[in-house]
Amino acid sequence: MTELLAQVALDVPLNRVFDYSLGQHQVVVGQRVIVPFGPRQLSGIVVALVANDGQHGQKLRSILAVRDDLPALPSTTLALCQFVADYYHHPLGAAIASALPTVFRAVPAFKPPAPAVVYFAADVPRLLAQLSSRAHAQVRVAQALAQPQSAAALRRVHAQGVVWAKRWAEAGWVTVAAESTQLAAASPTLPLNAGQQAAVSVLSAARDFAAFLLYGITGSGKTEVYLQTIAAVLARGEQALVLIPEINLTPQLEGRFRARFPGVHMASLHSGLNDTERACNWLAALRGEAQIVLGTRLAVFTPMPTLGLIVIDEEHDPSFKQQEGLRYSARDVAVYRARQAQVPIVLGSATPSIETWANARAGRYTTLALPERAVPGAVLPKITLLPVKKAGLIDGLNRMALAAMHAALARDEQVLVFINRRGYSPVLQCGECGWMAACPHCSARLVLHLRDRRLRCHHCGHEAQIDASCPDCGNQDLKPVGQGTQRLEDALAVHFPGKRILRIDRDSTRRKGELDAVLAQVHAGEADILIGTQMLAKGHDFARLNLVVVLNADTGLYSVDFRAEERLFALLTQVAGRAGRRETPGEVMIQTAFADHPFYHQLLGRDYAPFAERTWRERQELALPPAAAWVLFRAEAPQAEEALALLQQIRACFAGLPAQLLDGLTLNQPVLATMVKKAGVERAQWLLSAANKNQLQRALHQAMPFVEAIQTARARWIVDVDPLEV
Ligand code: ADP
Ligand code: ZN
Ligand code: ZN
Repeated sequence: MTELLAQVALDVPLNRVFDYSLGQHQVVVGQRVIVPFGPRQLSGIVVALVANDGQHGQKLRSILAVRDDLPALPSTTLALCQFVADYYHHPLGAAIASALPTVFRAVPAFKPPAPAVVYFAADVPRLLAQLSSRAHAQVRVAQALAQPQSAAALRRVHAQGVVWAKRWAEAGWVTVAAESTQLAAASPTLPLNAGQQAAVSVLSAARDFAAFLLYGITGSGKTEVYLQTIAAVLARGEQALVLIPEINLTPQLEGRFRARFPGVHMASLHSGLNDTERACNWLAALRGEAQIVLGTRLAVFTPMPTLGLIVIDEEHDPSFKQQEGLRYSARDVAVYRARQAQVPIVLGSATPSIETWANARAGRYTTLALPERAVPGAVLPKITLLPVKKAGLIDGLNRMALAAMHAALARDEQVLVFINRRGYSPVLQCGECGWMAACPHCSARLVLHLRDRRLRCHHCGHEAQIDASCPDCGNQDLKPVGQGTQRLEDALAVHFPGKRILRIDRDSTRRKGELDAVLAQVHAGEADILIGTQMLAKGHDFARLNLVVVLNADTGLYSVDFRAEERLFALLTQVAGRAGRRETPGEVMIQTAFADHPFYHQLLGRDYAPFAERTWRERQELALPPAAAWVLFRAEAPQAEEALALLQQIRACFAGLPAQLLDGLTLNQPVLATMVKKAGVERAQWLLSAANKNQLQRALHQAMPFVEAIQTARARWIVDVDPLEV
């Protein structure tokens, strides 16, 4: 019999797998193994077992250990990683590593903690009937079990609490369930309106692969459609994978899911969990125990043996694209995965990405429309454009906006002042010579953080003291320019004395749990005026919020990024969606200097379709994605010239391709990055455009081996397929 050797994928920056002899070990494909690599030991995944053809001679090293903390990865997961590695031109080992929880990338074996469980008595009177009424301590524990209790909580009721609960569980009077399982009463299933009903019928009847666009305005009840479709999937004994944007709507949405599915094991997977929690939830999904997986983009790789449905909520959200390492789009990978697993996928949005829009209008995706708000009587908010003329503004706010705020606050409602902070921040400027505080490591200004009296670079994290005088001319009168959330907060405090102002941005919610606490305050009505950035735009449902004032919306128009308008439309739609979600009609006031721009016409028209159609036509006319397929090579080096030279070498690998592969490709010239200098290195980029994705992939597969063989001393490159930011 020929000896077998294992091909192991390792997380090293080399685009190949590595051969090892099995030694004494029994190994199957998909297993996690520890192998020697140079002087080190590494964790890897066996991707194939092949016959040893003897070409390694004596040099073949042997597997050191097989880890049984991770069941062998299913072949479907390996195939998904292989697809992702091929499509994004990333080493397979690195792709597998990104798909795994961190604990399974380390050499030591993962020891899962004892699973956290809760104890719960569905029928407390029946339990009490078993107990002697004089056993006061037991009675207290039994009464506590009317609510799900953790072991720690029961021990606080009585030192023997857990012992008793376990005994009662054996007798069948008490239920023990994973902590992540909701046991208390379910939230009621809502009677659906016609649009929702149609969507749920189609979705829950779908088997095999089919992609659906759930195109529903904000507040149209898309979540209810997901919930009822998932109920049908669970009833079939299958698992559902729900992907949500990275932004922090997780706690609220997670709560809605848990409340709907009592007794169902739901595993969440997002960056708010620690490594151990993530690993445990991931294993529960892999073992088929978790029936619902709710997570951010990384959850798209979670092995799920009985997957029956994939949901992508807010499919247009940019956070589905990973911007470092393996630069995958979780949305695109999810569609591939749905096809691989032969299950339906539903992409939900009020403002679908133009990519998805194009797929829907071409008939590749089936559109399910929810054109009305779900709560009876709730209507879309009214949108007003307010001019920004310097003279008419008071602390950056239009008079009409201020008046509307006064009126809303007088009615005891909440007001949201939304700042579109993209590309916009307060800087420190010298009034005499125009000097501005700049980052020494980046071609960027430093942003003024008045609260902690610091200047900070938002690109590299560099911090500096606030200068006492201008380093160029010595002038002592340095002023902040532009309006950030902190300055606005100070100005509003003056305009609305006695009102409680809450600022919600990355700075005020940096620590873990801070955002949840702040949101709880908002829901409890402990704030009158909310000042927020992107973080507040999405998902949150504030009952008393009827007025939204939007500042600096215009920064999204006339941008170098061709997707900026699409993003702005989505952002403003979502912000507007915060207002008037109940019976009171909401109002959105947008301060703009470009009220005549077609963008605002279409926004005021309250219909995304004309905007999407215009945008799609423009993309076709200008051959921009998705009417073309792009790949971006980024290079960095101590000097920009070196980065550009490397990109020229990469370009040459493509320029030398056979003519039939060059057909339809546009080989542009390498250019400097918009922000040339960042964190001390200089950056350039090269864009390759193809007529479509197939053509692009064919060219990449031919040229990449040559690109990978380029030797460079000081310059480094990365490849970004379907880049989102150019
Ligand atoms: P979306 O996700 O489309 O923005 P949600 O699912 O958050 O909308 O629903 C908005 C509101 O409408 C929620 O408060 C939800 O409980 C309510 N809702 C959803 N469907 C119905 C329905 N069929 N009848 C009454 N209210 C509904
Ligand atoms: Zn100066
Ligand atoms: Zn910097």
